[in-house]
Amino acid sequence: MPLHGLRLEPIPGPCGAGSRSGSAMSEPIIRVAVPSPLNRLFDYLPPAGVDARLPLPGTRVWVPFGRTRQLGMVVERAETSDWPRSKMRRILEILDSELLIPADLMALGRWAAAYYHHPPGEVFAALMPTLFRRGAAANTEAVRIWSITPAGRDGLQSAALNRAPRQRALLQSLNVTSPGLSDAQLNTCLARWRDAARTLVARGWVESDSHPPVPAAPVQPIQPGPELTQEQRRAVSAIESAIGGFQALLLEGVTGSGKTEVYLQAILTVLARAQQVLVLVPEIGLTPQLLGRFRARLSAPLAVLHSALGDRERANAWLDARDGRVPLVIGTRSAVFTPFRDLGLIIVDEEHDASYKQQDGFRYSARDLAVWRARQRNVPVVLGSATPSLEALDNTNRGRYAHLLLMHRATGAPAPSMQLIDVRGCRMQAGLAPVSVMQVRQHLDRGEQVLVFLNRRGFAPVLLCHACGWAASCPRCDAHMTIHRLRQRQVCHHCGHERALPVVCPDCGTDDLIPVGHGTERIATDLAALFPDHHLVRIDRDSTRQRGSLEQALDAATSGKASLLVGTQMLAKGHHFPGVTLAVILDVDQGLFSADFRASERMAQLVLQVAGRAGRAELPGTVMLQTHHPGHPLLLRLIETGYPGFSEAALAERREAGFPPFAAQALLRAEATDRAAPDAFLTAAVALAGRNPDLDLWGPVPAPMERRAGRWRAQLLIRTRERALLHRFLDGWAPGLETLKEARRVRWSLDVDPMEMY
Ligand code: ADP
Ligand code: ZN
Ligand code: ZN
Repeated sequence: MPLHGLRLEPIPGPCGAGSRSGSAMSEPIIRVAVPSPLNRLFDYLPPAGVDARLPLPGTRVWVPFGRTRQLGMVVERAETSDWPRSKMRRILEILDSELLIPADLMALGRWAAAYYHHPPGEVFAALMPTLFRRGAAANTEAVRIWSITPAGRDGLQSAALNRAPRQRALLQSLNVTSPGLSDAQLNTCLARWRDAARTLVARGWVESDSHPPVPAAPVQPIQPGPELTQEQRRAVSAIESAIGGFQALLLEGVTGSGKTEVYLQAILTVLARAQQVLVLVPEIGLTPQLLGRFRARLSAPLAVLHSALGDRERANAWLDARDGRVPLVIGTRSAVFTPFRDLGLIIVDEEHDASYKQQDGFRYSARDLAVWRARQRNVPVVLGSATPSLEALDNTNRGRYAHLLLMHRATGAPAPSMQLIDVRGCRMQAGLAPVSVMQVRQHLDRGEQVLVFLNRRGFAPVLLCHACGWAASCPRCDAHMTIHRLRQRQVCHHCGHERALPVVCPDCGTDDLIPVGHGTERIATDLAALFPDHHLVRIDRDSTRQRGSLEQALDAATSGKASLLVGTQMLAKGHHFPGVTLAVILDVDQGLFSADFRASERMAQLVLQVAGRAGRAELPGTVMLQTHHPGHPLLLRLIETGYPGFSEAALAERREAGFPPFAAQALLRAEATDRAAPDAFLTAAVALAGRNPDLDLWGPVPAPMERRAGRWRAQLLIRTRERALLHRFLDGWAPGLETLKEARRVRWSLDVDPMEMY
């Protein structure tokens, strides 16, 4: 039962006010999570004179901490402490009159702090919106929200907007957001939107209102969905029959198979039971189409949690979910910590996506925590993907997760055909082999769209002196500087260091400097020269830095205005480009020879994701994979058997090599400006581990990129056959790490279930 509705009234009579007069022994000890790198709770006495039942776990308190005052979260109450009561300090003030964090979320925080061996102060801070972390009162405060009216939705197609791009952009943004966008959000995504908003309000196409919204009428589907295919019906009924208890279901469906339709049906069922739904997505900015579909189909108020949200709006949305005012929350990684009054279903879309794992600080996996929450709340969790993680597939093999399969595209479109292009010895143009150029030309001549994918931005990854061999490298990292020719800069993609492009070689003074290799900027420049009659858009982090430019580029791609699309991952994720019939992947070899054992899995996922952009409408799609290794067994497997065959082979390799999911890992990383310090710390950590037959310790070894941003880096990999053994070891070992004297000379972190090996 959620406790946060419980208001604590002062208790009349002798039992309540007794704490001041009662003996010190009867006073409870309050264990508080205080933001600090120390991996422990801190013990305090309650404020003098307070009701003996206060403060409760889940409320914030001000505590004295060293010489400062800190905001902490009460985690538990205890009878005893390792610390003498005489030395214990008192809590200064209790902030919340009601529980801020409900009991189930507190339990999640405690569990996550223990599992990831992360300081509870930082974990509990991560559970709260920033405003509450800073001490703001936990109530909703009005925020102005702009939203589109039905007339505005009809007006979207109006020719009047052709001469008003700003108004169109505003309308389009409002059309895919619910309940709408605030001033703060509009400021981050659209330049000079206020005039456009004023005009549209006058026209009756846009309105502004104060949040919180009036509770919605009973949830009903607005538009009926398509009639489900047999595969979809089977998946929906499997999810529906799981409602009311815990079950994890892996929904594996090729791109275009209608997974989103399955989610929508399941969501409608849960909303109709007056329960709430949490949907996690990798990146909201990249999936406006998904939001548009949710909005078009569900009348329910929907809270969208993403990084561009203002602090106040995030806090409001958090409280709305906690108190049951919004039935549906869509958000990225950290939304897994949203409190709910009555959660009925969790959906994790693109469950394999690396962005679910936080890569610094509190290194949690939102996907794994989502499964934990579902079990805790006794509700189903659906993990959806066209290319599931090997971990999820292994869980289905072991019978832990149900496996729901969608093998066919819902629209009946055939799956794209994939071919390997052997580029060895070929004369390349714009990064393309002659046969690829020919294909691109044919598709363009037929008036179809072509997508060219390369997962490297910038103009070229290396600038080389042809006279003496000097290459531009980052002064702070073991890495080359990437050339950005349009901006006339060289940029380190690892630490962000940048400077002007040199005119002559700093070593020998000649001006014979040549950019070596390709990035998307170069491919786009060369392709535009090769196909001058075709409109080209580039989509990567550089080309979309300006506000509104991503929306503009996506619009050109979707509408068919642009016939050549060049881009990185950003172009591959989730978009629906009906006119694309050919996708060319310039360099699949990057994924074949990495030191990271997950590289081939990621390569396959990316290839299929790009492939999924081709031939989504009536026309069949073709995918060309350029490679120097046309005989590579994993590539062949992927081409011949698709993801199911590939993942089976990849899982067999992992089992053979003893890698996850057939082993559990943790990675201890250390870095310092002093070269010897990381190794010294890790060596001491190995000594601390002692002998343990259940354990493999690999290291200390230098990190694959030994120096980054001016710091030397090393790591120690810990591996056990089973997860339970890993945690038994970590429980004993990790607390000792912060007490090592070598720890004082490094920055270190422990990464449980690491996803990146460097
Ligand atoms: P996925 O999320 O698996 O990539 P989507 O849910 O986006 O697939 O569906 C792909 C396309 O097929 C969308 O345009 C969607 O509207 C359409 N679609 C989904 N289910 C059906 C169906 N049962 N009948 C017809 N079209 C469908
Ligand atoms: Zn030179
Ligand atoms: Zn650098």
